[in-house]
Amino acid sequence: MSKLKMPASLSDPIINENAKIVLKRRYQRKDTEGVTYETTKELFWRVAAAIAEEEDKYKESSFKSTKLAREFYELMTSYRFLPNSPTLMNAGTDIGQLAACFVLPIEDDIEGIFDAVKHAAMIHKSGGGTGFSFSRLRAKDSVVGSTGGVASGPLSFLKIFNCATEQIKQGGTRRGANMGILRVDHPDIMDFIKAKERDGELNNFNLSIGLTEAFMKAVEKKADFDLIAPNSGEKVGSLNARDVFNILVQKAWESGDPGIVFLDRINRDNPTPKLGDMESTNPCGEQPLLPYEACNLGSINLGKCFAKGKNGHDSEVDWDELKRIVHLAVRFLDNVIDASQYPLPQITETVEMNRKIGLGVMGWADLLYQLKIPYNSQSAVDMGERVMKFVQDEARSASKTLATERGHFPTYVESIFGEANLGPYRNATTTTIAPTGTLSIIAGCSSGVEPLFALSFVRNVMDNDKLVETNSFFETAVKDAGAYSANLMEEIAKIGTIKKMEHLPEELRTVFVTSMDIEPIWHLKMQAAFQKHTDNAVSKTVNLPSNATKEDIWNIYWKAYEYGCKGVTVYRDGSKTSQVLCTGESD
Ligand code: ADP
Repeated sequence: MSKLKMPASLSDPIINENAKIVLKRRYQRKDTEGVTYETTKELFWRVAAAIAEEEDKYKESSFKSTKLAREFYELMTSYRFLPNSPTLMNAGTDIGQLAACFVLPIEDDIEGIFDAVKHAAMIHKSGGGTGFSFSRLRAKDSVVGSTGGVASGPLSFLKIFNCATEQIKQGGTRRGANMGILRVDHPDIMDFIKAKERDGELNNFNLSIGLTEAFMKAVEKKADFDLIAPNSGEKVGSLNARDVFNILVQKAWESGDPGIVFLDRINRDNPTPKLGDMESTNPCGEQPLLPYEACNLGSINLGKCFAKGKNGHDSEVDWDELKRIVHLAVRFLDNVIDASQYPLPQITETVEMNRKIGLGVMGWADLLYQLKIPYNSQSAVDMGERVMKFVQDEARSASKTLATERGHFPTYVESIFGEANLGPYRNATTTTIAPTGTLSIIAGCSSGVEPLFALSFVRNVMDNDKLVETNSFFETAVKDAGAYSANLMEEIAKIGTIKKMEHLPEELRTVFVTSMDIEPIWHLKMQAAFQKHTDNAVSKTVNLPSNATKEDIWNIYWKAYEYGCKGVTVYRDGSKTSQVLCTGESD
């Protein structure tokens, strides 16, 4: 617990109904009997105080921890910024593990494999998600030197990781999440692509295929590409790239898995190439990391950065406010690194060398609604690029300020920034766009840079709870247009979209679009616009209606490559029996 006392004048946070459920079940502290003893005010103060307290270590700091704790408290309880879930859960507690994202190496021997299983279990217990590359494991049926037997291959070990995850519930509520990646040139690639073809299999894993430039060029030319044995580096076969890509698309169409990541592109942006390659991302794909590296994330709610037109001026983004939030948020996230206790000494070491943080955004669709810009328009894409460039530039400038107060990240000199004489920075990366699955519920905003799933919908959370949500900006706009009625709202809750409701004003129907109304190409253009100014990656799922075709998915995967994205996942409505979001009708 922090030594900073909660000020008597601190105001109570206003918590929306859905957030009340989520916070109570997952975030507020409970005693050994499971009785919640922490109020939401105490929760946010616990986090604010624990993170602000780190400031006292730095004599050159421009902030006093007491003042900073208050600012952090205001930042979080006004829902302008929230740190990732493990920080909200564990800051100022004995667990003290505050990062959401980890990548662990899997070595090609039994000891290495089971070390990774154990390490993943430790991370899951503390609320983090893990990513692994299975690419170093020798192929199924290759020889095992020590016994003369044959290897069982990446997929059989993947099942062990999945099973172990199943058994470790996080704090009784959060099941572990994993990413499993296999390079496309691994000999077992076809089995891996098909690994989740049966619904419910490998439930605790997202799978992505690590695509290389060489492979993508071969797809373009309909050429063959080589399969390489990871243990010997020798060519052991070849496949037609176009055939592999087609099967990959087919499987993604069937079940949403596998997604794709562009490995060479991820490594092109590796800020510390001398420390090794990045072979995997965290579970949702937004954070590529080195083996044994962790990263903490935080998200700014862009919906709160809207300046209503004053004195006849047009409404626009509140750039001054956004700048203020970015600078505070970067300080917050850098302090989180110091406040966090990592489950393994190797992780502490890697994290402290590079000091990566991932500041991102949520509430993007909410901001567009307020700006009256349709998500599926070039103006929205241009605005996305402008906003993220601003966030990135300010985040780097904040990281520079921290470097002058606290010193640069230890590997700065050998990093790409040091070599190009660009720094010094405090952090090897500053920006990442997370999915904000639970943060957006707490903040009551649209998630990440996603369009709204539906203007009104039913959300299944934490296994079986159902929450009904209606977008508040939409409700206000309908009222302003004089079109509000209880019947209308009920009707919308059933289908989610107003696209075909011709009796509603045209402007409402063009501005208040939902993911189902938006052509896939706009999802990708938006992802690419944000990726352009994001150090790490952008979590983006292209949500598709159930009648989307394989060609649609082919085009999405291909365009993601052409547009410079680092990866992408798709989800076709109804392609899994249990899905996170659904409208009233599909429920
Ligand atoms: P949140 O909103 O809870 O902070 P996000 O939906 O933004 O989380 O996910 C960010 C990252 O947090 C994921 O990519 C993953 O690394 C981790 N994560 C999310 N959900 C889980 C989970 N159930 N178990 C473990 N890690 C998770």
